[in-house]
Amino acid sequence: MKVPISKSIFTQEDMSHVLQPLSDGWVVQGPKVERFESMWSQFTKAEYSIATTSCTSALFLSIDSLNLEEDDEVIVPALSWISTANVVENVGCKTVFCDIDLSTFNINLDDLRSKITNNTKAIIPVHLFGYPVDIEIIKEIIGDRKIYIIEDAACGFGAYVNDIHVGTKGTFGCFSFHPRKAISTGEGGMITLNDKKYLNKIRSLRDHGMDYGSDIQNNKPSFMKDHENAGYNFRMTDIQASLGISQMNRADQILRERHDIANIYDEAFNSNNQIGNPIIIEENFIHGYQSYACIFKPKDVKKALLTGNYESLINISENRNKFMDELANAGIGTRPPTHAIHTLSYYRDKYKTRPHDYPSAWAANICGFSIPIFPGLTEEDQNYVIETIFKYLN
Ligand SMILES: *Cc1c(COP(=O)(O)O)cnc(C)c1O
Repeated sequence: MKVPISKSIFTQEDMSHVLQPLSDGWVVQGPKVERFESMWSQFTKAEYSIATTSCTSALFLSIDSLNLEEDDEVIVPALSWISTANVVENVGCKTVFCDIDLSTFNINLDDLRSKITNNTKAIIPVHLFGYPVDIEIIKEIIGDRKIYIIEDAACGFGAYVNDIHVGTKGTFGCFSFHPRKAISTGEGGMITLNDKKYLNKIRSLRDHGMDYGSDIQNNKPSFMKDHENAGYNFRMTDIQASLGISQMNRADQILRERHDIANIYDEAFNSNNQIGNPIIIEENFIHGYQSYACIFKPKDVKKALLTGNYESLINISENRNKFMDELANAGIGTRPPTHAIHTLSYYRDKYKTRPHDYPSAWAANICGFSIPIFPGLTEEDQNYVIETIFKYLN
């Protein structure tokens, strides 16, 4: 690909950071992970941060720590990466899907209200593609019911509502360091939390269930700590954390570059109605721009959804596919924005969902597409992307 959808650019500085644990000889979770966690807390203003192997394991540890039961329901937007729902299944709870809003790609609040039952124990709002969900509104909807909020902030680095970083308002916030995300450690994740009650529990579950609560200090060679949980090994390595630390040192620059690229796309697509990014950024919201997601023929999509004309939606989708093929032929990488989870066979078979049960999530999945955005994308390459798109549309 001449212009891939995403590309990890590592600096000399990043590389020398990665070599440090190798020359020190300490590579597993240790001082670098601790430093990365504290930088993360500083940046997001979360009270605590806990590094993990991925956002998926961060989500899993979060939900696992709540001791939910078999009939408990967890509400998940139907449009997200599949792991947002998989973790609900992995702890044995019931996934309840909720549709999204095509003007934000995020959870539809009216639909959320209608999905809450006496069995609802948690909601996983997703700050999809880096556009924030206002967690305060979700708290209002919950009212005085005991429902946990686990923020899927995998894409949420650099996203704010009223100067508050995403991932810090729910019981937990979960971030990803996969290469498609703004900060990348290869694989990696982070849990943010403010309630100390969960701190040792999650640290314990991350580390084979080892006792983190008691202060027993014993340096005798015969001493081993107790294990109070049947935990897991979801520890990040110091090699990965070093890469994270190095990128956190230039976090503002990474985010600025993403914004600059997004602004150029916004300007270019403003005046046409055949494709575009549907998000109109709300006042006091800051987009993190993990992805730049667009809808193909947005007016036609909206009309098809309003009239329930799903044949027309599929038709638009086929044209989108041709458009994506053409861009690929021109050396430009695009991808569908993310999964309509309820259409994937595990969920379709288990919950008997039909694509149009969550029509906006389905439409975003089959009529949307993401275009290249990453720090290091040159102006020349970006112009080539824009020109090629317009050449096709005309
Ligand atoms: C990337 C992503 C995940 C998974 O993150 P990993 O670190 O790859 O496990 C989960 N949810 C959303 C919304 C994502 O975009």
